[in-house]
Parts: sequence; structure tokens; C-alpha cells
Amino acid sequence: MNINNLINSNEAISCVPDNQVRKDGIVYMIYKVDNTNWFYIGSSFKSLAERVRAHRYHANESNSKFYNFVNQYGWHMFNAQVLEEVKFVTRGQLLKREGDYQLFYKPTLNSLIAGNYFDENGILLSEYEYRQRNKEHFTEYKKQYRKNNIDYITQQKHEYYESNKDYINQKCKEYHESHREEISMQSKIYRQEHKEEIKQHNHEYYLQNKNKLNQQNMNNYYQNIEQRKEQMNEYRDSQPTIYCACGGRYRKSKRSDHIKSKTHLEFISEVDKFTSKQSEVI
Ligand SMILES: [Zn+2]
Repeated sequence: MNINNLINSNEAISCVPDNQVRKDGIVYMIYKVDNTNWFYIGSSFKSLAERVRAHRYHANESNSKFYNFVNQYGWHMFNAQVLEEVKFVTRGQLLKREGDYQLFYKPTLNSLIAGNYFDENGILLSEYEYRQRNKEHFTEYKKQYRKNNIDYITQQKHEYYESNKDYINQKCKEYHESHREEISMQSKIYRQEHKEEIKQHNHEYYLQNKNKLNQQNMNNYYQNIEQRKEQMNEYRDSQPTIYCACGGRYRKSKRSDHIKSKTHLEFISEVDKFTSKQSEVI
């Protein structure tokens, strides 16, 4: 059967996915009227008035930089204005355009750059691509986050480590064993490139921890004393025995002691007397 007589193009809807639907949108800004250093840039498929109404509604329940700021002063301190009407674009393309404005004007009230999830054609970026393209922004964002949450982060790390200690240690060990050469090469290069810094750092560390370090060295010294005695004995026993003409014997490493010994000195003086008598006879 033919369906042509059923088709009514006014009632039919497009089957493309929502993110590929093209509509007319706007990029807009909202700024504080008495100090325009404070501004926000957004985009919408709605009219500006509708969008502002939605913002007013969300400001009561969402905890974002923009809303917190607005709530401090009240909406009567802010104006909104369309920056650009963007015709026949997908949601991704509109967000991308918003992101262009944000990157250029660097709005003080946006916490993230919108639209950077999409490429120039409005195609969704992979997680990796997104991070690559927004590297600079992320680094700064992370730095700020770490600065503001240092105690929390440290505590989280500590708790995680404590409850996964064995697993983490095992993983580290495995990693080190399978990357041994790589690691030692890298650390060698690092040490060479940062020679002066390391020296300086070590010196500062030493000065700050002098007493502790000295105490440690002392402890090590006494702990190792038995061990070192044993090593010395082993070394001595490994030396060959020398049988001296004086009738005595000594380990090779003890020669200097032996030639100062009573037996050896007496023998030498006997020999000297004997040789001098011989030369008198001659
Ligand atoms: Zn001797």
C-alpha cells in the first residue's frame, strides 16, 4: 500500500536524536549593574526573558558560583543582554559558541567553560580530547580546588591508603619490579637535571633536622656495631697468613702491627748486629 495520502508534513516530527536537532539559539550575558567586572555568559534555545526566569528559579536551589554571587546582592542588581543570535544550530554547536565567548571574555561568574565538550562542528568530544583541549583551564581549576580543599584531600588520601594499604603496597612493588630499569634511568636523568636543587634541598633538610639526623646516625652506629665487628673478622680471616723470618706470623693486613712487635724488632736488631760483625771481619 502507498502511504502518501496519510502523510501530513505539519504533524510529522523529525527522528534525528535530540542532540542533532537544529534550532535558533542565543548567547547572552548577565552582569552586575554597578560593577561590570562581575558577569556571566550563557546560551539558550529559549528567549532571554525565559532563560532569566529559569535562572531566578534555579538560584534558590543550586549551589554554583554564579547563583551564590547573585543571591548575595539580589537579582535587581543584575541585567541581562543577548550577545549573539545563533541560527539553526545543534545544542553542541550553540554550547561551542558560548564557550568561544567565555574563552575570550573570561567571565568572572562562570565556574566552567561551556561548550568545550564539543568540537567546532558541535560533535561531542571524547573524555581525552576534552581534557587535552581544556588542559590549561583544568590545571588552574584543579590548583584552586586543591588549595581550597587541602585538608579534606589529605584526609581522604590518608583514609584511602589506610584501608587499602596491602593492596597499594603490593601494586607499587609490582610496578617497581616490572619498570625497574625505566625508573632508575628516569631518576638518574632527574637527578642530573636537578643537581643543584637537590643539593640545596638536602642541605636545608639537614639544617632543619640536624638533631634528629644525628640521633639517627648514632642509633645506626650502635645497631651496626656487632655487624661491623663480624665483617672485620671475616675480612681478617680472608687475609693470607704470612710467616715471617723472625719466627712469628701475621695476617697480611696486620703487617704494620707485626713489624713493630717485640719479637720482630728483637730479631731485626739481632740481624743488624750479626751483619755489622760480618762487615767488621771483612
Ligand atoms: Zn717478623
